[in-house]
Amino acid sequence: MRDRVREIMGQQNVKGLDYKILILFFAVLACVVLTFYLASKGETRVYTHLFYIPILLAGVWYHKKAIYVALFLSFFYILVTYPLTHLSVDVFERSAILVVVAYVIGLVSEKRAKVEEELRETKDYLNDIIKSSADAIVVVDKEGIVRSWNKAAEDYMGYTADEVIGTPNKKFFADPEEADKIMEIALREGELKNYRTTVLNKDKKPVHISMSAALLKDKKGLPVGTVRVSRDITKIAELEEKIKEKRDNLDLILESMADGVYIVSGDYKVEFMNRVLIDEFGDQVGGICYKVFHDREEPCPLCKNTEVMKEKTVRWEWHSRMKNKTYDLIETPLKNIDGSISKLTIFRDISKRKRIEEELKEAKDRYMVIFEHALTALCVIEEDKKISLANKEFEILSGYSREEIEDKKWTEFIAEEDLERVNKYHDERRKGGAPACCVFKFVSRNGEIKHVNTCIEPIPGAKRCIASLLDITELKMKEYDLRETCEKLAELDKMKKDFLNVAYHEMRSPLAPIVGYASLLERIEHTDKGRKYIRNIEKCARQLEKMINRMLELARIDSRKVERILDEFSIQGVVREVVKSLEPEAKVRKQKIAIVIPEIEIQADKLKITAIFTNLISNAIKYTHEGGRIDIMVVDRGKDIRVCVADTGIGIPGEHLPKIFERFYMVDTSLTRKSGSLGLGLSIVKEYVKLHGGRVWATSELEKGSKFFFTMPKRQK
Ligand code: ADP
Repeated sequence: MRDRVREIMGQQNVKGLDYKILILFFAVLACVVLTFYLASKGETRVYTHLFYIPILLAGVWYHKKAIYVALFLSFFYILVTYPLTHLSVDVFERSAILVVVAYVIGLVSEKRAKVEEELRETKDYLNDIIKSSADAIVVVDKEGIVRSWNKAAEDYMGYTADEVIGTPNKKFFADPEEADKIMEIALREGELKNYRTTVLNKDKKPVHISMSAALLKDKKGLPVGTVRVSRDITKIAELEEKIKEKRDNLDLILESMADGVYIVSGDYKVEFMNRVLIDEFGDQVGGICYKVFHDREEPCPLCKNTEVMKEKTVRWEWHSRMKNKTYDLIETPLKNIDGSISKLTIFRDISKRKRIEEELKEAKDRYMVIFEHALTALCVIEEDKKISLANKEFEILSGYSREEIEDKKWTEFIAEEDLERVNKYHDERRKGGAPACCVFKFVSRNGEIKHVNTCIEPIPGAKRCIASLLDITELKMKEYDLRETCEKLAELDKMKKDFLNVAYHEMRSPLAPIVGYASLLERIEHTDKGRKYIRNIEKCARQLEKMINRMLELARIDSRKVERILDEFSIQGVVREVVKSLEPEAKVRKQKIAIVIPEIEIQADKLKITAIFTNLISNAIKYTHEGGRIDIMVVDRGKDIRVCVADTGIGIPGEHLPKIFERFYMVDTSLTRKSGSLGLGLSIVKEYVKLHGGRVWATSELEKGSKFFFTMPKRQK
C-alpha cells in the first residue's frame, strides 16, 4: 500500500517537475539578471531580499535542496558584487542568512511533507481496511443520516453506497425505534458494544446483526455522529436459537427428573436448579454454590468444579451436614452457547439406600453369627449344587475344612443309594414343594456314614438354598434297637394272648360241670345249711364263668377274631327283652325302669346290641340306691340312633370319667366292692359300639346320677 502511495507521489513529482522547476529557474534567472543590472548601477544591498522568492519556492517544493539555490545565489551575488564591495562582511553576512533561511525553510517543509505523507498513508490504510473489512462499517451523523457505507454493508444489506449515503438510517431497522435508541446510547455512553438488533435488507428480509459503535467528534470535541461496525450474525442467531431450544428442552427434562439437578458456572454461580432441588435447598439460582450449599466462604476442598471444567465426568458421594443426607452425585461438563463450560450435577438422595445397606449389613452380620454358631450343620447350596458357605458344625459333620467344603458339590456328601431321592427332594424344595425334611446317609471325609435329618429351604429372591443337617446317627441306632424290642414285645404279646385264650378256655371247661353239679345237688334234699353252701358254690361259679367269658370275649376282640352277625330287628324289642331279664333285680332294689323308644328297625349284631344294653342297664341298677330310677331313651336321628341310659345313682367322680371305658378300670366304691365287678363291662360296650361304627361316652354328677350315651348307624356298611 505504501509502495502504491510512493508510486503515486513519484508520478506527481514527475508531473510537477515541469512547471515547478521552470518557475524556479525563471525566479533564479530573474535574481541573476537583477543582480547584474543593479551591480552595473553600483547597488549592492537592498535587492537581495528578492532572493528569498526562489529560496522559498525551492524550500516548499524541494525542501532542503533549497540550500543549493541559496548557495548558488549567494556565490553569484558575492562574485558579481566583489568589484564593488571587495568582499565586505556585509556581503558575506547576507549570503549566510540566505543559506540559513533556505535550510530552515527546507527543514520545515520537509517535516510537513513527511507528516502529510504519513497522514495520507494512514488515510489510505484506513480506506483499505474499511473497504476490505468483512464487517459492515457505516458512518451515521448525529441526525441519523448515513455518511459512509462500505462493501460489507453493501453485501449483506443489498444496498450500494450510492443508494444509501445521504439517506436516514432509520429505514434499515426492523424496529425503527432502534435507530434513535442506538444513537442515544452512543451519545450517553460514548460507545456501544456488541449490541444485538435486527435490520431489514433490500429484500426486506431480517438480518440479525451485532453492532459496536464509537462516537465521532469534531475539532472542538463535540459529537457529530457515530461510526458503526456491524456483523451479520443471522447464522449465529439461528444456531443460538437452536441451542436455546435444546437447552430449554434439556431444562424441561431436568425439571421433570425425579433426581435433583443443578447447573453451576465455572465461577461457582448457580445457573439452574430443578424443582426437586429447589424443594430441598430452596431457590438458590444466582447464588454461589459453596455458600448456598456448604455455607463456606471459599470453594470446598472436595469440589469437582476444576475437574469438570477440564471436561471430565465425575461421580462421587456427598454427605450434606446441613440436611444430614447422603447424595450420589454425577457431575458432567455442559457446553454453553458462548463456548464456556458449566457443570451439570445430578443429585440422587441415597440416604435411604445407605441406611438400608447398613441395616442389611447389620442383619447379615447378625445372621452370620447365628449361622456360624448354630448347633446344626448349615450350608448354602448354589444353583449348580456347589456349596458356597458352610458353618463350623458342617465342618465337624463332614470332617473337611471350610475351604475344602466350599469347593465341593453338595451331592458329594450324599451316599450313592440316597442320591436320586435327595436330588428329587432338593429340586422339589426349590420349587417350594415336598415335605420339609429328608433323612439320608451323609458321607463324611473318612468315608464314615452318618444319618442326617436334612431340611432344605429355598432362600427367597435367590436361586440358592440353605440346608440344615442334624446328625441323627445315634437316634437311628436307638430306633433300630427300639424296633427290635418292639418286634420282640409284639411276639411276646401274641404269645401271651394265645396263652390267655387257651387258659380262659381251659378255665371255663371245669366250670361248666361245677355249675351243673351244683344245680343237680340243689335238687337233692339237704339241710338248710347244706342248701345254702350249694347255692353259694353255684353263685360263685356263675360269677367266675361270667368273668372268664368277658375276658375271653375281649381277648377275641384283640385278636380280631370277633365277627358281626348282622340282623334286622327292632331296637325297642331288644331293650324290652333286656329290661325284662333285669327287672327282678331292679324290683329287689325297688327301682323304676322307664323306656322311651320309638319303633326303629336297625341292622346290627343283635347279640352284641343286647350285650351293650345288658351291661349299661345292669350297671345302672347296680350303682343306683334302692328306690332309684332308670330311664332308657332312644332318639332316631335319621341315619343313626342316639341311645341314653340314665340313672339317679351314685354318679362317677369327674377325674374317673375319662377312664371308665378302659379295661379293669373301676371306681373304688362300696358298691363296686360289693358287686364283685371286674371293670370289663364298659370295655366290651366300647368295643361293640366301635364294631358297629358308633361312639360311646358318659356324663355324670356325683350322688345325682350318670348318663351313658352311644350312637350307632341304623345300617351297617
Ligand atoms: P363292672 O363290671 O365292674 O361294673 P364296668 O366296666 O361295667 O365294670 O364299670 C366300670 C366302673 O364304672 C365300675 O366299677 C363303676 O365304678 C363305674 N360305673 C359303671 N356304670 C356306672 C353307673 N351307672 N353309675 C356309677 N358308676 C358306674
